[in-house]
Amino acid sequence: MSEILDRVAYEGIAIELPLDDTGAPHLVKAYVAYDRTARPKVRRVREALGHLQAFGLGPVGEIRLRRIADEDWLTSWRATFTPVRVGPFLIHPSWIEPKASEAIPIAIDPGMAFGTGLHPTTQQCLELLGTLEVAGRSVLDVGTGSGILAIAAAKRGAARVVGVDTDDVALREARENAERNGVALELGLGSAADLSGEYDVVIANLVGAVISRIAPQLRARTGRGGTLVAAGIVAAAERETESALTAAGLAAVERDLRDDWVLLVCR
Ligand code: SAH
Repeated sequence: MSEILDRVAYEGIAIELPLDDTGAPHLVKAYVAYDRTARPKVRRVREALGHLQAFGLGPVGEIRLRRIADEDWLTSWRATFTPVRVGPFLIHPSWIEPKASEAIPIAIDPGMAFGTGLHPTTQQCLELLGTLEVAGRSVLDVGTGSGILAIAAAKRGAARVVGVDTDDVALREARENAERNGVALELGLGSAADLSGEYDVVIANLVGAVISRIAPQLRARTGRGGTLVAAGIVAAAERETESALTAAGLAAVERDLRDDWVLLVCR
């Protein structure tokens, strides 16, 4: 049956086996483009299956047809992204108009770049941005990804928000998301080392090893009396990352642990 269906199928067939051996039927699926060739293909399969029956190998079963509309894919994919409330923010995909509420809306479309607002480390950072004093301050987001944290800072009234990322795909998405949210961000390709000056708040939701490596640059960008938020550190790498930060002259004053992810607030 697989071989017969494979002759007409688009990029192979799918076999669904029952989870137990209760004798439930095995299902062989083939997807066929819905065009002029579809009916002749079904006819050919039907004939071949009829011939197969003649070998007496066992019951071959009925051929069942179902038309799948193109739109269904998009709708069901979109349905998987629903608004999420994180701290004072409501992260929602741009195609869902959030209901008027107390929350600060942030429209982010899930794309190639990390940062749909759902990752635990992003959530930790967003929650912190909900309590940190950012209004009227300067904020630097190192590894901005989708731009979600930079947008959150801008929406909470930061006077100046700079976002950098070493990945140009991420940067393009950050630009689109900034526009979508009507906030002005200064976005650039690169990292903390490519900038000068000091910021009141520096956020780095990277991985522990990268934070350790660029700790001196993160220190240099964090102004006197400023705050560095270092996140994305797996618990196992916490000690090493923290000592790199300490060596660079930063002291952890707050810690948040979630699902094995550590966030450090340093001064
Ligand atoms: N800030 C977003 C994305 C975090 S993912 C959020 O919180 O959801 C980390 C991002 O950092 C990725 O987009 C990656 O391209 C970028 N990145 C990795 N190493 C970097 C470095 N050394 N300097 C700047 N950005 C870096």
